[in-house]
Amino acid sequence: MGAERVAIGQEALANRLARHAQDGSLAHALLLTGVPGRGGLALTLALAKHLHCQTSDAAPCGTCPACQQHDQLQHPDLHFTFPVAKPAGKDKALSIDQLEVWRELLMEKGPHIDMVDLRERMALGNKQPYISVHEAQDIQRRLSLTAHAGGGKVQVIYGAQSMRIDTANKLLKLLEEPPKKTLFVLLADNTEALLATILSRTQIIPVPPISAEAIRQQLQAEGGAAEAISDAVALCDGDLAEARRLMLSDAADEFEMYVEWMRTCYARDGRKAAGMADRFHDLGREAQKQFLAYALHMVRQCIVGNYGAKGAVRLRAAEQGFAKKFAAFIHHGNVIDMQSILERAAREVAGNVYGRTVFLDLSMRMMELLHRPK
Ligand SMILES: [Zn+2]
Repeated sequence: MGAERVAIGQEALANRLARHAQDGSLAHALLLTGVPGRGGLALTLALAKHLHCQTSDAAPCGTCPACQQHDQLQHPDLHFTFPVAKPAGKDKALSIDQLEVWRELLMEKGPHIDMVDLRERMALGNKQPYISVHEAQDIQRRLSLTAHAGGGKVQVIYGAQSMRIDTANKLLKLLEEPPKKTLFVLLADNTEALLATILSRTQIIPVPPISAEAIRQQLQAEGGAAEAISDAVALCDGDLAEARRLMLSDAADEFEMYVEWMRTCYARDGRKAAGMADRFHDLGREAQKQFLAYALHMVRQCIVGNYGAKGAVRLRAAEQGFAKKFAAFIHHGNVIDMQSILERAAREVAGNVYGRTVFLDLSMRMMELLHRPK
């Protein structure tokens, strides 16, 4: 687990945080922004270990009792809050009830986990996890107790964008009058879903995408096949959680659906497009997002192929056959608009617009674009 915990590709930021930890210049509340697969949690765990280490100020020693407790995610002053759903028969949704699941997942997969991993592990189905106001009360209670050892407490709030408004307001009070020797680390995809008052109380630290090279090396170290690694690196956008998922899937389902959808749009088959919109709808939000990202990738690859940069085309073998035939219908007269309608659809899906509506609208636009003259 030790090596897994390293902030892959984020060494510069890790060093910066370590320097702050060493000279005591950390703000009392940090907000790390960026999708979880970039490693915000890995950075947080490294920082907490550093703060709690009993023998060294320069870097965690790795051998003292505190470091060992950290390696098992069992340090008594390291607290986790993350989005959960209310279990059947309970009246509160609390992450402490899922703490074992959380630890198990992290021990197994390392800290580059995202909500897709967490939802799957908690077997949430279609339930949307969130951080409830009870959670904020729980944090308050926990932080009012004395820290077990030197180094103070670290309260991690993962998926902070899932805080309900009453949760955020309650947390705000804690951030305004922070308990002594407590470091809050909030992790969120971006700042958009957070209250301005929360933002103003935290030091915002953007976590950049991991470089392609660092992801490639990591996937190689994990024993991936060369071709699958190239695909994953090209598609993951600096997100290691996404890269690992791509390594597991050969995108066969998405490819099939993409081919069927493009053919339907090309044939201007409105009835079939409506049926497909229903199917997309039923897939759920995560799969919809993944499909749109895939469609965007395919459209871009067709254009790369058309403009002669064959060597730059990043397609799996089965995809190349289709792309070769279909590339003729994607050209400089429609590609920009195609990208923008796919990107817009992805934003709408992320923003909770009804899936059926998004895909129906998208299909109608795609029909028009596919028949636009070169
Ligand atoms: Zn130590």
